[in-house]
Amino acid sequence: MPLVDSKAMLIYAQKNGFAIGAFNANNMEVAQAIVSAAEEEQAPVIVQISEGAVKYAGAHCMFSIVKSLAEQTSAPVVCHLDHGVNYHTVIKCLRVGFTSLMFDGSSLTFEENIKITKELAKIAHSVGIPLEGEIGKIPDAAKGPLSQEEIKRYLTTPEEAKEFFESTGVDSLAVAVGSAHRVKVQSVSLDIERIARIRESVNVPLVLHGASGVLDDSIEKAIKAGIAKINFATELNKAYTEALKHIFNNKPELIDVRKYGEFGREKVKEVVKDKIRLLGSSGKAKEILNEIIKNECAINANSFEREIVE
Ligand SMILES: [Zn+2]
Repeated sequence: MPLVDSKAMLIYAQKNGFAIGAFNANNMEVAQAIVSAAEEEQAPVIVQISEGAVKYAGAHCMFSIVKSLAEQTSAPVVCHLDHGVNYHTVIKCLRVGFTSLMFDGSSLTFEENIKITKELAKIAHSVGIPLEGEIGKIPDAAKGPLSQEEIKRYLTTPEEAKEFFESTGVDSLAVAVGSAHRVKVQSVSLDIERIARIRESVNVPLVLHGASGVLDDSIEKAIKAGIAKINFATELNKAYTEALKHIFNNKPELIDVRKYGEFGREKVKEVVKDKIRLLGSSGKAKEILNEIIKNECAINANSFEREIVE
């Protein structure tokens, strides 16, 4: 089926106590693994292309791969820009055809983050595409484990989440609730109480970044508290790379890229299927599709009414 956008599915997931898995793809094999896991689990899925992946493979190339895979599956697939930190990358991906976008202004001042996010939300909404914003800052553990003080420094407060949401009109909100990017071992427990308090103060689907390092039990609690989209990147990178290392160690004579690509793809698919089940989105494809259709009908009916009034 054609690519779908992320708006209706995230609202529905939050209302119904499950979350949508958002998985990063940096190449064709990983994108194939994600979509085929969604197909086998009959789950809605978000394939994320980061700004780094756009630089590595090109926005057109990655979008075309995801679009073509979506068209060959019966599961609802979204093509989402993850962490667009550059204004022009967000606009570029919108023009290319991405069906969901993120602007990450977390390194800017609060005011500057609001200003640019609001502008991009307005542009994206004018063509019916949802935008995710980020408030607080999800830290990066690329240089080694972070101290509790470092994680605490960036946590999102319910007050700033409310002000940010009301000022920008974003469709989903990435919040800092204890996780960090690039944590290689599942070891983190989230601040569940904070998630619940943010959820009470803003009526918008909340997004958890850096979920690869979070304990399963904490992920389940976070979903109950209001998280509706959960991002996984590091675990997929790890599964793919470890699979390739394993095959090279055992078969050093191997030179056919398809042979090891296939092996990596299978390992990533298993990880994605596990995560889909953990998030409770397995078997939800049909429900989500009905919701998307219902929503489309509502939008069309509204614009029809507006045309008559005008
Ligand atoms: Zn992230």
